[in-house]
Amino acid sequence: MTELTPIGLLAELTHRCPLGCPYCSNPLELTRANQELDTKTWTRVFEDAASLGAMHVHLSGGEPLVRKDIAELTNAAHLAGLYTNLITSGVGLNAQSLTELRAAGLDHVQISIQGVDPTRADAIAHFKGGAKAKREAARVVVEEGLALTINAVIHRGNIKDLPAIIDLAVEWGAGRLEVAHVQYHGWAIANRASLMPAREDFLTAAKLVEDARKSLEGTLVIDHVIPDYYAERPKACMGGWGRQVIVVTPDGRALPCHAAATLPGFAFDNVKDRSLAEIWETSEAFQKFRGTAWMPKPCQGCDRAEIDWGGCRCQAFAITGNAATTDPACALSPEHTKLREMATADAASGISTYRFRRIGG
Ligand code: SF4
Ligand code: SF4
Repeated sequence: MTELTPIGLLAELTHRCPLGCPYCSNPLELTRANQELDTKTWTRVFEDAASLGAMHVHLSGGEPLVRKDIAELTNAAHLAGLYTNLITSGVGLNAQSLTELRAAGLDHVQISIQGVDPTRADAIAHFKGGAKAKREAARVVVEEGLALTINAVIHRGNIKDLPAIIDLAVEWGAGRLEVAHVQYHGWAIANRASLMPAREDFLTAAKLVEDARKSLEGTLVIDHVIPDYYAERPKACMGGWGRQVIVVTPDGRALPCHAAATLPGFAFDNVKDRSLAEIWETSEAFQKFRGTAWMPKPCQGCDRAEIDWGGCRCQAFAITGNAATTDPACALSPEHTKLREMATADAASGISTYRFRRIGG
């Protein structure tokens, strides 16, 4: 039994999405519509999560708005007592759908943007008209008086536009901007050579964020998710494995992190077969890297062991082939140099073509 309580639920309602971002964190093998959980099962999952102590749910995807029952699902999460955050591309969000969602109990909206220039933004999203739709979606969210966060995924193709992206978030009336450098999971790792920025450009961006945080204090809160490949210490992935967040995939698998399904040798329990509480408490997958007992050196005994929890298991596996090793993002990892070399080579690759995300692609 664990005394830990999950803070949040990441509900991946669907993998369907009209966009095709090459940095999408969804897995390469996307779940099809006929495998998705139904409304009733999601309702039970929301109730289970709230009973476990979760405070909020991220209604995510894919694009959650493609679910015909999105208002019903939002209402179910709201009635369960969860703070509801819609994570959307903005495509499909208009005054009518937003009014409906708000009446259902929607508390917050996060819209992702690809950049400021509509043509270039649509090109990276592989979707014509997306940039225009996002602008309109942001307008109606603010007009409805809902809290708005803009999520801007940063990569080699748009890193120099960061000042304009910050201006855009202010212009649109967002209260928060997430400057999120690509995290290399799912489709992003397949496109790493086309997406990786140069280290100098990352450092310039980091300074820009720092300065903007000061100059925009009281107007815009800026979160900065840095690229692990240029970090000295890893992030506490999802707040630590099996500590704060439960991810439920469109077909019902409960994961400690959205990329965990890439790890071999795991049988992830499904909410169709077991309650969320049972999975959280007893499933092998959630317990595997929970705490510090599993840690090898140099994590074992390290004074950051209970701060970053050894970093990301999926990244450790992707780079070293061993999920139970120190995240190579850590400068203390023997594989750190290899990670840096990969980033340097990718940034200098000159590759500018993308493998766009799509179901069956
Ligand atoms: S990252 Fe792009 S493709 Fe992936 S779910 Fe979000 S909008 Fe869709
Ligand atoms: S050695 Fe492990 S616990 Fe210590 S900073 Fe690096 S990843 Fe974190």
